Amino acid sequence: MRPPLLGAHVSAAGGLRRAIPRAEELTCEAIQVFVKSPHQWALRPLPGDEVDAFHRALAASEVGAVVAHATYLINLAATDAEILERSRETLGRELDRCDLLGIDSLIVHPGSHRGAGPEAGLRLVAESLEHILDRRQQLRTRLLLETTAGQGTTLGSDLEQLGWVLDRLGRPANLGVCLDTCHLFAAGYPIHEKRGYSALTTEIDRRLDADAVRCVHLNDSRHPCGSARDRHANLGDGEIGIEPFGWLVSDPRFSGLPLVLETPSGENRAGHRRDLERLRELRARPAG
Ligand SMILES: [Zn+2]
Ligand SMILES: [Zn+2]
Repeated sequence: MRPPLLGAHVSAAGGLRRAIPRAEELTCEAIQVFVKSPHQWALRPLPGDEVDAFHRALAASEVGAVVAHATYLINLAATDAEILERSRETLGRELDRCDLLGIDSLIVHPGSHRGAGPEAGLRLVAESLEHILDRRQQLRTRLLLETTAGQGTTLGSDLEQLGWVLDRLGRPANLGVCLDTCHLFAAGYPIHEKRGYSALTTEIDRRLDADAVRCVHLNDSRHPCGSARDRHANLGDGEIGIEPFGWLVSDPRFSGLPLVLETPSGENRAGHRRDLERLRELRARPAG
């Protein structure tokens, strides 16, 4: 099996090209970045030389996969017409930007139904995705729907919902899924136990296509299983514990995929450094 590519979310402060040396300092094999401010709607234009500079820095590095995380304000199931339109417009433009930068995947949370009910919400998510992807068939960047912790009226806290959306669009090659270990656990998947991990993988195989999962966020959880609360912890410091991350990095389902940390990075990024060391140790161990 090809090993998974281990890495972390890295800052692109000061320009996207600067994410690469930050990744190399931690020996990241994969990274996640923001291609715009994640807390604002506005897409400020990229400076002219930024795209080339990013391509050059990436090509000269050991980083083997780059994913991006979309703007947090986006709600593909918004009941407010103006927010829905803004969400579609912003996500579409972010996807265009990722494609220009040669980024493999753009990860987005499906959205919140805000009282309209999960069925109506999921139908709207599917419509939004169709709207965005139909006019972008030529792009190489994939859009990935991320599993969520299920707080409030958030959609996407189980694989059945995500599978339903993929089916609704006819499972196009440019649409996939990003798993997040903290979110899955908070949403009620008991992946801290071997039995719960196996049940999850059975559900991945049943609900999603074998190659629908294109990225995994590796985060421990501050809150217990089923809490529906989204607070990331460093690996082994939370309620999931370190062992399940060993099952994950040796699981052939995730062979060759970017597995990225979104844990607290801490002072001088000591948190990420330690989490990555632990993951590399786990990956080097024989599976079992
Ligand atoms: Zn996310
Ligand atoms: Zn989270």
